[in-house]
Amino acid sequence: MKFVAEALNLTPPAAERLGERNILKNALIKHPFFGDVIEAYKLEKKFGEYEEGTLIAKTKHGLEVVRGYPKIRRALTLYPTIKRRFSGEVALEEKMNGYNARIALLGENIYGITRRGYICPYTTEKARELIDIAFFHDHPDLMLCCEAVGEESPFVPKATYGVKLEFYVFDIREKRSNRPLSIREKERLCQEYSLNMAPILDVVEVEIAHEIAFEVVKKLGEEGREGIVFKDVEMKKEPIKYTSSQSNCGDLRYAFRYFNDYGRDFMFSRIVREGFQSFELKENEREFRERCLRLGMSILQPMVESIREVAEGKKITEKTRLSFSSMETLKLFKEHVRRMGIEAVFGDIEEKDGKYVVTFERMMVSTTDKIKGHLKGGLW
Ligand code: ATP
Ligand code: MG
Repeated sequence: MKFVAEALNLTPPAAERLGERNILKNALIKHPFFGDVIEAYKLEKKFGEYEEGTLIAKTKHGLEVVRGYPKIRRALTLYPTIKRRFSGEVALEEKMNGYNARIALLGENIYGITRRGYICPYTTEKARELIDIAFFHDHPDLMLCCEAVGEESPFVPKATYGVKLEFYVFDIREKRSNRPLSIREKERLCQEYSLNMAPILDVVEVEIAHEIAFEVVKKLGEEGREGIVFKDVEMKKEPIKYTSSQSNCGDLRYAFRYFNDYGRDFMFSRIVREGFQSFELKENEREFRERCLRLGMSILQPMVESIREVAEGKKITEKTRLSFSSMETLKLFKEHVRRMGIEAVFGDIEEKDGKYVVTFERMMVSTTDKIKGHLKGGLW
C-alpha cells in the first residue's frame, strides 16, 4: 500500500492519516484480464484534493492515478441559478441516465472504472470492444468520462436509448489532474476517434439559458429522457444539473419499489425538486393536477405492487439480462458483484451469437423482509 502515498505525492503525516482512517479499499480482482495492474486501491471518500472514487494503481509500467468524477451540483430553479453561476456561453448537454464509467489506459490496455473506483470486469470488457485504442495511444494521459447506457446494463438498465450497452462521452479529462478539456476540444476528439458523445443540445448566452432550458427539459421529459447538464464552454466553472419531472418521478418509481433498500434522502430530494419545478413553471390547475397524479402514482403504484408480490410469496428483485464475450469475464463479474456487497442470483447461461447471455437478478432483501414483517402483523 506504500505506493499509494507515493502516487498521491503525500507528505509522511498525510500518508499515515490515509492508512489510519481506513479510506482505502482494494479495487482490483487479480486476474490476467487485468494483467497490466499489479495492485490497485480506491478512495472510499474524499481525501484532500482527491475525489471519492479515485483509483490508485501500481502497474507494470509505473504508478497511475485516475481521479474520481466530481460531484455535479443541482439547480432547483433555473432562474436565477444559471445566470448567477455562469457567464458568457453555456452548453446545454443531455444528461443521460446510465452509470458513470471512466475509461482509461493502464499499461497497455483499456480499463473501465465505475463511479466508486472499482475496476469493473463488465465495463472493461465492453470498453475494450467499443472504444478505439488509438485514442489512448495518441493521448495516454487522458480519460474518457462516459455514461454507460442501455438495456444490458448491470446497474441502470434502460430501454430509452435503443442500445444494448454503449458509452457516451460527456467529459474528457486528464486522468492525473482531473483537468477537463473544453467542449470544443472534446467534440473534436470524439469526432476524430468516432466516439459517441452525450448530445450537446444547444450553446447559448447565459442571459437566455433558463428560457431555452425550460423548453428543452420539457421536451426531454416527454421523451422519457433525464435532463440537462449546464457547462461552461471552456469548462472553467463547475457544471450544474437539472432534471425533468418525468425523470424525478421515474427515480421515485424505482426507489419506492425497493423502498427499504433505498436511502430516504434519495426520495425526499426528488419530491422537493417537483415542488420547485411546479412553482417555477407557473403551472395552471390542469398541469398542476397532472403533476400531482404523476408524483403520487410514482410513489404508490410501485410500492403497492411490491407489497402484493410479497403477499403472494414472491421476493422483490430487479432482473437484467447481460451478455459477456467470455466465460472468464462472466466469472470475474460474479466475483466483482460479491465484493460490492450486492446480493444477486445469476440464471442459466445461454450461448447466443458467440456471446454468453445470462440473467442477473438483484435481491432486494431488506424491502422483502420489511414487507413480510408488516404483513405478518409487525409494527413500524
Ligand atoms: P453526482 O454524480 O452529481 O455526485 P448522482 O450520483 O446523484 O450525483 P446524477 O444525479 O446522475 O448522479 O448526476 C451526475 C451524473 O450524471 C454524472 O456522474 C454522470 O454519470 C451523469 N451524466 C450523464 N450525462 C452527463 C453529461 N452530459 N455531463 C455530465 N454528467 C453526465
Ligand atoms: Mg445518473
